[in-house]
Amino acid sequence: MASRADTEGPVKYDEAQLKLLSLLVSKPELKDAAATKLAAVAEELEKTVSSDTGMTDVEAPVPVPRSVHHELLQKVPEEPSPIKKLKNGFVGFKSHYFEKESDLFEPLKTGQSPKVFIIACCDSRVSPDTIMSASPGEVFTLRNIANLVPPMEEAGKLHSTSAALEYAVLHLKVEHIIVKGHRACGGINALMTSEPDAEPATINGARSYIGDWMAIAAPARAKTLEECKGKDLDTQLRYCEKESVNNSQRNHI
Ligand SMILES: [Zn+2]
Repeated sequence: MASRADTEGPVKYDEAQLKLLSLLVSKPELKDAAATKLAAVAEELEKTVSSDTGMTDVEAPVPVPRSVHHELLQKVPEEPSPIKKLKNGFVGFKSHYFEKESDLFEPLKTGQSPKVFIIACCDSRVSPDTIMSASPGEVFTLRNIANLVPPMEEAGKLHSTSAALEYAVLHLKVEHIIVKGHRACGGINALMTSEPDAEPATINGARSYIGDWMAIAAPARAKTLEECKGKDLDTQLRYCEKESVNNSQRNHI
């Protein structure tokens, strides 16, 4: 059978590009392989150009018409959505970890007995299990804005932190409690850059809860302003991130 080049002459750059894009629309799983081959072609062409002073053999690429290019790119499936990526991660966890580490997971089917309770910030960058390389069942964890422990209160019923402390200490009988602060905490930034006596903030007319929550760390703010008087905001933030942990530790004693 005669090839296309035999019958119609050399392949044009724009036609080859269109053909590749069309292929990736129907077979997106080939994107990685295509990327590898394109990188190799680019490297080879670069060598050809640098070793050939004539350079006339290298035909200038003819771009695919913008409208066609745009339409095709729209059809190429994008990267997995955040939810899809997490689902894939869970499937990978099950097949590569859960199903192969029966010594670890078998006892966890009937209960947990962590030795450590960690109170950490909601911040997506500082997941305790991840950054401390903890295994499932190793740490009991509570996360809230700025890793705060409120003072014990008799009134009210919405005691998330107190309930977690009660369960960790009385039922799980943990041996250690860690309040884990972190650098560049948005909650601490909000605390240090807002007026504590200001009216409660609102979002589209509804009350914002962050100010009330961060008021738990007001003593840390006051001490920071006292100890870091005249210093820049960054210094104050670093100090308050640590002092807020001290404040939370005092609150849970
Ligand atoms: Zn934080």
